[in-house]
Amino acid sequence: MKRILVLGGGTGGTIVSNRLAYELSDLIRDEKVSIEVVNPSERHYYQPAFLLIPVNKMDEREAYTKFSSLITEGVKWIKDKAVKIDLENSSVTLSNGEVKEYDYLVISTGSVLDPSSVKGLEDTYHFYSLDGAKMLKNALAEFEGGKVVIGVSSIPYRCPPAPAEMAFLLNDYFTSRGIRDKVSITYFYPLPRVFPIAGVSEILDELMDKKGIEKALMFNLDYIDTERKKLVSLEGEELDYDLAIVIPPHKGAQVIRDSGLGDEDGWIDVDRYTLNIPGYDNVYVIGDATNLPVSKAGSVADFEAEVVAKRITDDILGYEPAARYNGKVMCFLVTGFGEATVLVFDYDNPPTPVPPSFVYYWLKLAYNKMYWTITAKALLAGVVL
Ligand SMILES: Cc1cc2nc3c(=O)[nH]c(=O)nc-3n(C[C@H](O)[C@H](O)[C@H](O)COP(=O)(O)OP(=O)(O)OC[C@H]3O[C@@H](n4cnc5c(N)ncnc54)[C@H](O)[C@@H]3O)c2cc1C
Repeated sequence: MKRILVLGGGTGGTIVSNRLAYELSDLIRDEKVSIEVVNPSERHYYQPAFLLIPVNKMDEREAYTKFSSLITEGVKWIKDKAVKIDLENSSVTLSNGEVKEYDYLVISTGSVLDPSSVKGLEDTYHFYSLDGAKMLKNALAEFEGGKVVIGVSSIPYRCPPAPAEMAFLLNDYFTSRGIRDKVSITYFYPLPRVFPIAGVSEILDELMDKKGIEKALMFNLDYIDTERKKLVSLEGEELDYDLAIVIPPHKGAQVIRDSGLGDEDGWIDVDRYTLNIPGYDNVYVIGDATNLPVSKAGSVADFEAEVVAKRITDDILGYEPAARYNGKVMCFLVTGFGEATVLVFDYDNPPTPVPPSFVYYWLKLAYNKMYWTITAKALLAGVVL
């Protein structure tokens, strides 16, 4: 019996488990292969919804579903969390004390927010969790005018375009409420440009100018003075706010840090093509958990899940695993109510963004609905995105 253990039932963990279950269904039926997914949460969240909830473009209920409804036949759910990963002994300890041994391990434990690492951050808003998105939605509804700041406390963070997207959405949100002239929107970012990739940055920069969004670049957030209502940078610059939306620092999951697997922030070093932890051909890492120089994005987790499922399947069937991840990223980038563009790139090819249009906005909305039935169920893994 070959035992496949998957840690995490978010985007990457769900897709890789389901994909493996399709590929290996005969062997699972004959009890020659088992697939177990360790996931503590009964809910599976679709995080892109968190962007649209605060501005009333998506309903809270569309952001999650029952994890049990997403896993297909052949995948066994262990409702617990991993507390220790022991690569030397090919085992994982669960919080109930049980020790699971594996032949193949896929780590897809994502990332967590670390708001306590910046003084004052807990008194600001964000949209990087369902609760955060709901709180921001309420705060926006009560906001009648003043200074809004929106930006990033540190890199890396999930979905690199999301903060700029929120700035664009806020512009249209306040316009639709008839109070745009009473609101200033300032986008702050720790780099000397508005987005990590130069070609995309130029386009977003222009759009921000066009939409009257101010910019504070190279703004490395140090702390938030909640009494004086100022963001303070490491360089001593200050940004006044009435409403602050700040993406908190991200870290790898606790179990990664407790197992000594990642760097000091818990991001795991992997081979950029095979997605193996160096020295462990049977251990893979996908999604936000890696330290790869690609976006922390659901599309990345999807593409990587497809590669890893193929590699494990080939190995079990006696073929040389040949599938390789080429660094592909695909993201819709919303530039306002009813308009979006799309970014597609990989290790070797930078994105060439197309002009924003309703078509990509519509595709994004359509994709939001298809996520549950097509992407998460791994029906077209690596194809639809
Ligand atoms: C506002 C916002 C907008 C976004 N928009 C987009 C977008 O438009 N396009 C895009 O591609 N991406 C987008 N993303 C990013 C995308 O959601 C993530 O990159 C993606 O979910 C990563 O998948 P993952 O499987 O690595 O992690 P996750 O989906 O976060 O899953 C991690 C899982 O691991 C589990 N876990 C944690 N610790 C343990 C443990 N110890 N044991 C077992 N399980 C554990 C968690 O419960 C969770 O189920 C967005 C994110 C946000 C916040």
